Amino acid sequence: MRLNLKGLGIRLLGVLLPRTCVHCAEDLPAASERPLCADCLAALERPEPPLCGRCGLPLRSAEGCRSCRGPRPPFDLARSAFLFNPPLRSLLHAFKYSGRRDLARPLALMMASELALLPELAPFRTLAPVPLHPSRERRRGYNQSALLARGLAEAAGLSFAEDLLTRERETRPQVDLKRRERLENVRGAFRAGPGAAGGSFLLVDDVATTLATAGDAARALKEAGAAAAAVFTLAREP
Ligand SMILES: [Zn+2]
Ligand SMILES: [Zn+2]
Repeated sequence: MRLNLKGLGIRLLGVLLPRTCVHCAEDLPAASERPLCADCLAALERPEPPLCGRCGLPLRSAEGCRSCRGPRPPFDLARSAFLFNPPLRSLLHAFKYSGRRDLARPLALMMASELALLPELAPFRTLAPVPLHPSRERRRGYNQSALLARGLAEAAGLSFAEDLLTRERETRPQVDLKRRERLENVRGAFRAGPGAAGGSFLLVDDVATTLATAGDAARALKEAGAAAAAVFTLAREP
């Protein structure tokens, strides 16, 4: 019996690369590089103005930003491509916890389209990913923020400083913690190399909740002499 290797290869590819919408499991057109169907793609939500000038959170009342009360955060500016709503949650879950590393490219392209709409981030020309602790990166096999930052740098024509920041100690997953605990949990977790001196950096991360993690990374950049540090995330938890 002769094996039809080509046919087998195509069938294997079909198994390895699921061609269904990551959120609703609707079949996707064969030519589509997008991980969501048209309806789920249309359901992604940008943070709608008015936004907090500093942290980018949509403002719900005239009282100002509830997230920016208290001490001034260490970053100059934070913005997000989308709000953390159900279709985006499915995408991020597949990307981070189901080994769908291939989603890095479409997600980075989506971030690049949104970044082009945010002129306030244009002065920050070097992308730096928020690092995972090496032991967590080994368990996951990749740092999702580094994959996003690399793809975004390529798509947007910006520099990429992969190893500028290191994570000095392992912190508990932020997802399990309350706001105050999150701020305490990450403080002092990062260190920036000498390459930070004088630069204007855009820290890239997947999700912003309290911005405590990105804030601590920004503090490390500034302590190492960075002139400016902003944050750009794929998702923002409102
Ligand atoms: Zn869908
Ligand atoms: Zn704010």
